[in-house]
Amino acid sequence: MKKDDCIFCKIAAGEIPSKKAYEDDEILVFQDIQPVAPVHLLMIPKAHVASLAECGPEHAPVLGRMMAMAGRLASEQGARDGFRTIVNTGRVGRQDVYHLHIHIIGGPDRLPRMIAAE
Ligand code: 5GP
Ligand code: ZN
Repeated sequence: MKKDDCIFCKIAAGEIPSKKAYEDDEILVFQDIQPVAPVHLLMIPKAHVASLAECGPEHAPVLGRMMAMAGRLASEQGARDGFRTIVNTGRVGRQDVYHLHIHIIGGPDRLPRMIAAE
C-alpha cells in the first residue's frame, strides 16, 4: 500500500532517511525535518492514506494505537509536562504532505496559544 510519489511512503520504506523515534509493523515515528519546537515528531501509519478526510472505520485501530502511544513518545523525547498533537487536513487545514501524519510538538517551555482570534 505504498504510493510511489509520496515522500512519507518513501520514508516508511527506508528509501529516504529519517531520524526514527519509534517503529513497528504499521506505525513509524520520526523527527520533523524543520522542527518548530524542541520536540517535534511526525507519527504516520506505514500504509498510505492521504489525510484524516480519507479515513474510515478501517483506520480506527491504527489511529487509536497512534494516539495511545503519543504520550509515552512525547515524554521519552523530552516533552514531560505536556505537548500538542496536530493533524493538518486538506486545503483549509494547510496540509502540505498528503500522507496522514500526527505532529507531536512540545518542549520544556509552553507553546504559543493555538489559533489567535481575529
Ligand atoms: P503538514 O504541513 O503537511 O502538516 O506537515 C508536513 C511536515 O512534514 C512539515 O512539518 C515538514 O517540516 C515535514 N517534512 C516535509 N518533508 C520532510 C522530510 O523529507 N523529512 C522529514 N523528517 N520531515 C519532512
Ligand atoms: Zn504515502
